[in-house]
Amino acid sequence: MSCRDAVLYYLERIHRLSHLNVFVHIYEKESLETADRLDRERTAGKKTGRLHGVVIGIKDVICYRDHPVTAGSKILEGFSSLYHATAVDRLLEEGAIIIGHLNCDEFAMGSSNENSIYGRVKNALDPEKVAGGSSGGSAVAVQASLCMVSLGSDTGGSVRQPADFCGVIGLKPTYGRISRYGLIAYASSFDQIGIFGKNIPDLALILEIISGFDPRDATSSRSLVPAYVEGLRLKAEGSRHKPEGTPDNTPSTVNRHPSTYRIAVLKEALEHPSLDPEIRAKIQDFISDLRLKGYQVQEISFDLLDFIVPAYYILTTAEASSNLSRFDGVRYGRRTADPEAGFPEFYLKSRSEGFGKEVKRRILLGTFVLSAGYYEAYFSKAQKVRKILTERTKLIFNEFDIILTPTVPTTAFKAGEKSTDPVAMYLADLYTVYANLVGIPGISLPFFTHTNGMPFGVQAMTNQFRELYLLQFSDELMQQYKSYEIPTL
Ligand code: GLN
Repeated sequence: MSCRDAVLYYLERIHRLSHLNVFVHIYEKESLETADRLDRERTAGKKTGRLHGVVIGIKDVICYRDHPVTAGSKILEGFSSLYHATAVDRLLEEGAIIIGHLNCDEFAMGSSNENSIYGRVKNALDPEKVAGGSSGGSAVAVQASLCMVSLGSDTGGSVRQPADFCGVIGLKPTYGRISRYGLIAYASSFDQIGIFGKNIPDLALILEIISGFDPRDATSSRSLVPAYVEGLRLKAEGSRHKPEGTPDNTPSTVNRHPSTYRIAVLKEALEHPSLDPEIRAKIQDFISDLRLKGYQVQEISFDLLDFIVPAYYILTTAEASSNLSRFDGVRYGRRTADPEAGFPEFYLKSRSEGFGKEVKRRILLGTFVLSAGYYEAYFSKAQKVRKILTERTKLIFNEFDIILTPTVPTTAFKAGEKSTDPVAMYLADLYTVYANLVGIPGISLPFFTHTNGMPFGVQAMTNQFRELYLLQFSDELMQQYKSYEIPTL
């Protein structure tokens, strides 16, 4: 089919399923024009890019030059990006078509996509239920086939958790793997762009294209980007040799026997009282089955679990309070219309009017934990927890290649169910924030269906920069276990 046909297909679905509230901006005319250009170029014999005609949606925190970007917030109302995020630049260079910006929690703060100025995103499998957050729009866009793949951002689970709730795959790479340039900051030492898709090869391709060093992001890694796509293919074929002339970054991967994967399961994670008993039972059965298939799976004790969520919420709110100070009604977006507001009321008013409740809560909390009297008791302590976690993680990866946990303690909940209890909402991030605290990659694989009808996943994590290994392992599991089947919508 032509690129135009592909875009028309998705546009029809986007309009038909608009009640799901997935897109905040649809670039209809422009997508069709890009598609026509790509079709013309192909017909004229021009070499096509690796993402020729791939229709992609991006989260409303990722900059796309001359297009609005609002982070789901009133404070950025009317703001247009002045430049492309590096990830967007790299997608476009390969012939991708960006069809629109996707709804999310305000400044990516949330686990249910209920904190968006545009209203909540509905889970296509049950519109009464939340899509997860903060990248709820990105998850449902893939779930409901409103685009082929999508980008989100993951500071504490915002890709993996909504993927789990929606029955799709969500990958958060190693911190520094993908440039954060042009990603609106929430907590800079945690933030990472992530990818949603329905199969591993798609994720591998997007990851390969958008990863890599970027002089505009000092925290982006200089480590070589492996040829993820080729690495997956070689493994699937069981090839042990590099074909002649393959570039140096092509992994000479082998078709591993299951027993060569050393998998750790965190005992405290499976025993945690907040874990839904049916999710526990199904993950336990899954683990037993992995063992039967020959995988080496070992339960290990991880007594730091209860420190993870508090440390995460102290450190991320501290970073957020600092990052969000730039939204002052002068340099970006919206300012108060009150003509009487002088200095400094002008700032107060612009920020009070522009930020939503959850964002305010976090700015206050972050400012508090950084304040002189409480810095040692909260911020420093949380930093120490982060250091201890990093050291412990190193020890685990000395002995194991993969850590397995549930992705989320429950399946998608009813809208409104947790919105009055922020602590309950924060606790739902129990299993995902760990990867961000220690900077490792994590993926959620949608293998299970709850008797309540909703899907859920299992999370696999590896050591830093072992995305290829993670993708190979995930692909192998995807071949062996039936992935959740999304009904036709
Ligand atoms: N739910 C977490 C939070 O609210 C994660 C958010 C994210 O990853 N952006 O902070």
